[in-house]
Amino acid sequence: MEATSEIAYRKIIHIDMDAFYASVEQRDNPEYRGKPLVVGGLPEGRGGVVATASYEARGFGIHSAMPSKQALKLCPHALFVRPRFEAYKEISRKIREIFSRYTDLIEPLSLDEAYLDVTQDKLHIGSALEIAWQIKAAIKDELKLTASAGVSINKFVAKMASDINKPDGLKFIGPSSVEAFMETLPVAKFYGVGKVTAEKMKKMGLFTGADIKNLSEAELSRSFGKSGRFYYQIVRGIDDREVQPHRETKSLAAEDTFAYDLSTLEEMEAELDKIAKLVYDRLLKKNLKGRTITLKIKYSNFKQITRNKSFPVPVADLETINATAKQLLRITFMETHRIRLLGISLSNFGELDTRPKGKIGADQLKLF
Ligand SMILES: [Mg+2]
Repeated sequence: MEATSEIAYRKIIHIDMDAFYASVEQRDNPEYRGKPLVVGGLPEGRGGVVATASYEARGFGIHSAMPSKQALKLCPHALFVRPRFEAYKEISRKIREIFSRYTDLIEPLSLDEAYLDVTQDKLHIGSALEIAWQIKAAIKDELKLTASAGVSINKFVAKMASDINKPDGLKFIGPSSVEAFMETLPVAKFYGVGKVTAEKMKKMGLFTGADIKNLSEAELSRSFGKSGRFYYQIVRGIDDREVQPHRETKSLAAEDTFAYDLSTLEEMEAELDKIAKLVYDRLLKKNLKGRTITLKIKYSNFKQITRNKSFPVPVADLETINATAKQLLRITFMETHRIRLLGISLSNFGELDTRPKGKIGADQLKLF
């Protein structure tokens, strides 16, 4: 049916919601609109960090992952609110529903970001740029939120492009402009290049894609190991990674090593409360549910054990994670054994298990 006379470039869209959590809060609470708003840990609390800052707050230099205390110093009249992950998750589901009108090849990166492969779109629109425009319009129209979109021939360039005209941006980088775009792109902006690598590149005199292009694949591999080959290809506009609709994190964990070894069940359970909350927040952010909950224990003699429990259906609620971790702890608890580390992880992500439920599954269900 479709014409296939042209070179088969893929059509990839990267959609990124603008200041997602903060925009949702401003949408739902008119009194927050036009104000510097920080969603995340409260500055009074210990160790709270900024999850998302509104654009007004960004004007004061506040950004994600910054300690909330520091954010308050930068902008003493900023408003701080705790995240409502359940609400964000629900909106994320609606955004995905909009994507699915055009393609089933959707790879979520988090609640507010996804890659779409629209090489063959369900509605036979044919133009990725048009689809991106329609998706943005639908999000604005139906959800009263804005998204930025990057459109290109691969994931890397699409992701870089979505950042260019933020907020409410739309940037198309066509096949013939991909290499030129990569040549001018500062290496520090490369997705996946962290501070350490950026610093190393700077020392080597590598500032833009063009600088990297001057090096051979062997030279890049020597300096950057496996990533070297990736850099070699990406500055030439080559990124063959597929959009993976079931891109799965294998497991998701949080753990804590304590300042002193714990000896009482009360202390341990109090710590598990915090760790369970961390795992739970991460699950929500990634929009994941897991069937297996694992408790990791490291004793004061550094011996480590893990105990796990699986469920017939994926779980993602804080109560179940917390209760299961505590149950596993109680089973293994020995008064003579002090504990220096506790960790909780979830794994076995995926769809509902439709296999017939065995006895174990049924019994486990009853427990919760
Ligand atoms: Mg975003």
